Amino acid sequence: MQPFHYSRVSSIPQALEIQATAGQGRSRPGAAYLAGGTTLIDLMKLEVMRPQSVIDLRALSATHGAIGWDGATLHLGAFASMAEVADHSDVIEHFPVIAQSLSLAASAQLRNMATLGGNVLQKTRCAYFRDPSWQACNRRTPGSGCTAIEGINRQHAVLGTNEHCIASYPGDFAQALIALDATVTLSGPEGERRMPFASLHRQPQGRPDIETNLAPGEIITAFTVPAGAWTRRSLYLKVRDRQSYEFAVASAAVALEMNGRVVNEARIALGGVATVPWRAREAESVLRGHTLDEARANRAAQAAFNGAVPRSHNAFKVALGQSTLVRALLDAASLEVSHG
Ligand code: SF4
Repeated sequence: MQPFHYSRVSSIPQALEIQATAGQGRSRPGAAYLAGGTTLIDLMKLEVMRPQSVIDLRALSATHGAIGWDGATLHLGAFASMAEVADHSDVIEHFPVIAQSLSLAASAQLRNMATLGGNVLQKTRCAYFRDPSWQACNRRTPGSGCTAIEGINRQHAVLGTNEHCIASYPGDFAQALIALDATVTLSGPEGERRMPFASLHRQPQGRPDIETNLAPGEIITAFTVPAGAWTRRSLYLKVRDRQSYEFAVASAAVALEMNGRVVNEARIALGGVATVPWRAREAESVLRGHTLDEARANRAAQAAFNGAVPRSHNAFKVALGQSTLVRALLDAASLEVSHG
């Protein structure tokens, strides 16, 4: 790990001031923010990230770590830990898909350390990205190529890929947020702003190293999730190579509003199969207004993978992703949901 300058801050303005002095590019920053540290420290040890300055934001959990539920909207401070939110009774009762997406991620130790804001910004697990001895990786070194396209790509994405990068987005919580139309609040040098969570992540385009639409220096401070008739009937189904402490091979975040067996409203996001948290709007359209049975769920799952581009080792992800979604939909439809 290369030497770096360390600062610990207790407020957003203090963090922005230090960040402005240190300077920040987008792909290999001069300054990097440290929240839970569960991604950054790993990548610094691997020398994938080599910031000259690390700004420790952990003290912001006191001011930006609250969890609030007012009966209409869930407010999540970005510095709340994954464990705090996963175990919160209001989240479990009113937004089960959020609680499950967090509790099925990582390990208990990591969930205690990692913050929500850091979680949604975690980097891909592509082995070529995480090992600098592989020279061709557009996400790590822009313009160098992509080793994975002709390499071992079993874990890689089939949706949202292009010739520049096929890395899958590794998180779980982000799928719940995008399915529920969450909003993210940001603080930066130009002040505070809010954006739809769906606008936070960028598909690879020509610059896979630019992973988000955050402006330089911006810090995620909160997430806001509106309640809907579908949020209680929601779940997160995660399929992985082992049952614990593992990333998704395929996952589905599903929220349904049902009138008997007919779907009034459906919200669906997919994980493990796409380059970004992936909202499956075509699948939602297939369900809306129809009786949800296995045949309809299969039609929705097929629609969800329209346009998928499998590579040499990951063609199985299309069938697996479809099966995961079918099961998630049928499980969500059969949930007993009280309306208290
Ligand atoms: Fe790099 Fe993306 Fe290719 Fe992986 S898939 S080697 S992250 S460019």
